[in-house]
Amino acid sequence: MDCLFCKIIAGEIPSTKVYEDETVYAFRDISPQAPEHILIIPKLHIPSPAHIDETNSAVIAHIFEVAAKLAKELGFVNGYRMVANCGEDGGQTVGHLHFHMLAGRLLAWPPG
Ligand code: AMP
Ligand code: ZN
Repeated sequence: MDCLFCKIIAGEIPSTKVYEDETVYAFRDISPQAPEHILIIPKLHIPSPAHIDETNSAVIAHIFEVAAKLAKELGFVNGYRMVANCGEDGGQTVGHLHFHMLAGRLLAWPPG
C-alpha cells in the first residue's frame, strides 16, 4: 500500500522512534510545532478518525494509554495536547490515522 506511515512502520522510511509495541508506533514529527511533537499511530492502516468503528477502536484507547506513559517518561509535567486532524477541513495531510502529541510550551486555544 502506498502509505507514508505504513512505510515508516515497516522501516522502509526512516523515523525517530520513541515507542513501539504490537499495535502502536510512536515517532518524532519531522516538522515539530512544539518543543516536543510526537506522532502516535496504530500499526493497522486506518485512513482517518472518520474510519474508527467498533472493529478497530480498541487501539485508540491503547494510544491514549501510551501517550500517558510517554508523558511520564519524557517529563511532560505541565501537560500536553493530543490532536487528530480529520479530512480536508481538519487539516489532515497523511491518510493514516495519527495522533499528534504536543508538549513543551503553552499551546493556544482555540487552534487556527
Ligand atoms: P496531519 O497534517 O495532521 O496529517 O499531520 C501529518 C504530520 O506528519 C505533519 O505534522 C508532518 O510534519 C508529519 N510528517 C510527514 N512526513 C513525515 C515523516 N517522514 N516523518 C515524520 N513526520 C512526518
Ligand atoms: Zn498506512
